[in-house]
Amino acid sequence: MTVRRTGFTWDERFMWWDTRHAGGFLPSGGWIEPDEHVENPRTKRRLKNLLDAAGVTGDLVPLPVREARREELERFHTPEYLDRVKALSDGDGGDAGELTPFAAGGYEIAALAAGSVVEAAVAVHERRVDNAYALTRPPGHHAERDRGRGFCMFGNVAVAAAALRAEHGLARIAVVDWDVHHGNGTQQAFYDDPSVLTISLHQDRYYPHESGSVDERGESEGEGYNINIPLPPGTGVGGYLRAMEQVVLPALRTFQAEFVIVASGLDSGALDPLGRQMLHSDGFREMTRLVREVAEEIAGGRLLVVHEGGYSTAYVPFSGLAVIEELSGIRTSVSDPYLDFLSAMGGMDLQDHQRALIEKIVAHGFRGPV
Ligand code: ZN
Repeated sequence: MTVRRTGFTWDERFMWWDTRHAGGFLPSGGWIEPDEHVENPRTKRRLKNLLDAAGVTGDLVPLPVREARREELERFHTPEYLDRVKALSDGDGGDAGELTPFAAGGYEIAALAAGSVVEAAVAVHERRVDNAYALTRPPGHHAERDRGRGFCMFGNVAVAAAALRAEHGLARIAVVDWDVHHGNGTQQAFYDDPSVLTISLHQDRYYPHESGSVDERGESEGEGYNINIPLPPGTGVGGYLRAMEQVVLPALRTFQAEFVIVASGLDSGALDPLGRQMLHSDGFREMTRLVREVAEEIAGGRLLVVHEGGYSTAYVPFSGLAVIEELSGIRTSVSDPYLDFLSAMGGMDLQDHQRALIEKIVAHGFRGPV
C-alpha cells in the first residue's frame, strides 16, 4: 500500500469552544434539565486520543493553525453578522443565530477553525502534503451568510474554497458533504457560482428541514452546480456507495474538479444519537477511497477532509480513524470492535426504494458545463 503525506490540523483551543448547558441540542431551561450539549469536545478529543494510542499521529504532517482574517470571512459572511457575533463574543457569548450557543471568546475559536481549514487547503494546494484531515471545531457547514445555524458559526469549508479561488486561482473546486445533515451553508455560499460544485448527501429533511431537496440545483450561472442527494432514513453502506458511484463520482469527473473538499460529518454513522443513517467505519473508509481515487485521477490527488458533525462518543473515533487511514495509506493495528455488530444490521445493503431515488437523482443531476 502506498503511504501518502497526510496533513493533520489539530489545536487544543478547538476543544474549548463552549456550547453551554443543553438537553441534546436544545438549550437547557424550562422543562429541560441542564446537561451536556451534544456538540461537546468528547467525540473529537476521543478521535485524537485514538490516533495517538494507535501511534499514527506522529506519521501525519502537523499543519499550521491561525485565525481567519476578517477579509477571508467576508468572502462568505456579511460584515453585520461578523460584527454581531464579535460583540457577543466580547461580552458573555450568546447564540450566533439558530441553535448555535457559544461562550465568551467563541468568535476567536471559530475564526481559528476557519483559518486553519484555509491553511490546510493551501498546504494541499501547494503540495506540501498529498492530502489532509482537519480535525477542527466548531463545525461549519450549516453557517449561513448572515447567521450561525446548527452549532456552526463560520462556514469553514466555504471560507477555504473561497480562499483557494480568490488567492490561488483555482477555477473548479468541488465539495462533497456526507454529514447526515444538509450542507445548507456551503450550498448557499456558491449557489450562483459555477466555479464551486457543491454536493450534499444527507438524511432527507432532517436539518434544516426546508432545504436539501433534489430540486435545489443552483441558480443563474450556478444552475446545475449544486446536487442534493436526500437519502431516506435508514440508508446503510449499500445506499451511500450506490449514490457515490452513480451520482457523486461521475459529477466530479464531468466537472473536472481541480481540488476536492470533503465535509466529513460522522453523524451519518449507525450509532449516532442524532442521525438515523447506518454507515460504519468501513463505509466511511470506502467512500474516502472512492473520492481519493477520483481526486488522484482529475485533481492531482488534491483532497482535503474537514471534520463536521458526529455525536457518538463511542463510534466517531473509529470512523474518523478509518478516513485518516485511507487518506494516508497507513493501516494501524486498530480494528473497529463494533464493525461485525454493525455490518450484520438489517438494511445495510442497498434497498429498492434507495435505488429508485438514486436513479431519479441521476436523471435530474449534473450534466456538466453548458
Ligand atoms: Zn451533522
